[in-house]
Amino acid sequence: MKTAVYPGSFDPITLGHLNIIRRACAIFDKVLVCVMINSDKRPLFTLDERMELIRRTVRRYRNVEVDASDELLVSYVKQKGANVIVKGLRAVSDFDWEFQIALANKKIEPTIDTIFLASSEKYTYLSSTVVKEMARYGADLSGFVPREIIGDITSRLPPRRVNGSVTR
Ligand code: ADP
Repeated sequence: MKTAVYPGSFDPITLGHLNIIRRACAIFDKVLVCVMINSDKRPLFTLDERMELIRRTVRRYRNVEVDASDELLVSYVKQKGANVIVKGLRAVSDFDWEFQIALANKKIEPTIDTIFLASSEKYTYLSSTVVKEMARYGADLSGFVPREIIGDITSRLPPRRVNGSVTR
């Protein structure tokens, strides 16, 4: 059985992430979406909330599991019996960092490979940060995140006031 791990912050999951999950599901027998705990970032959603939002949107895929970890990624992957890490690449700017990390991971654990899936062109601009920024200004989020989670984001982010009026 070929199992791949798809790691990220997923704060929150976007249509870009979901596109990578859907395509990884067609390549691997099992895809383990792993919310990585990054102490440098102050997330909008707690770990449990992020996992629940992902679970809600991946229900339609039979071979996806959702998990979380604060371990070294390659140790986690090995412990799960997987040997592939899936990453999405949006632009050359993603590549620089992701390539360094992939090589470092390969050095630590040569049996594990990183596979890059090119972002679908309609999502190359999309990140969780863009979603949060749009939400703060009351934008329609339907082109950015799965519709099942729009309410969770809009209720979490307070509307901004511009010239005394509420923008959303
Ligand atoms: P973000 O940059 O949105 O905070 P994450 O840290 O959660 O993303 O990213 C997890 C993985 O998903 C990374 O490999 C990242 O490159 C990939 N990814 C994020 N957004 C997209 C997108 N719009 N298209 C393709 N891959 C993406």
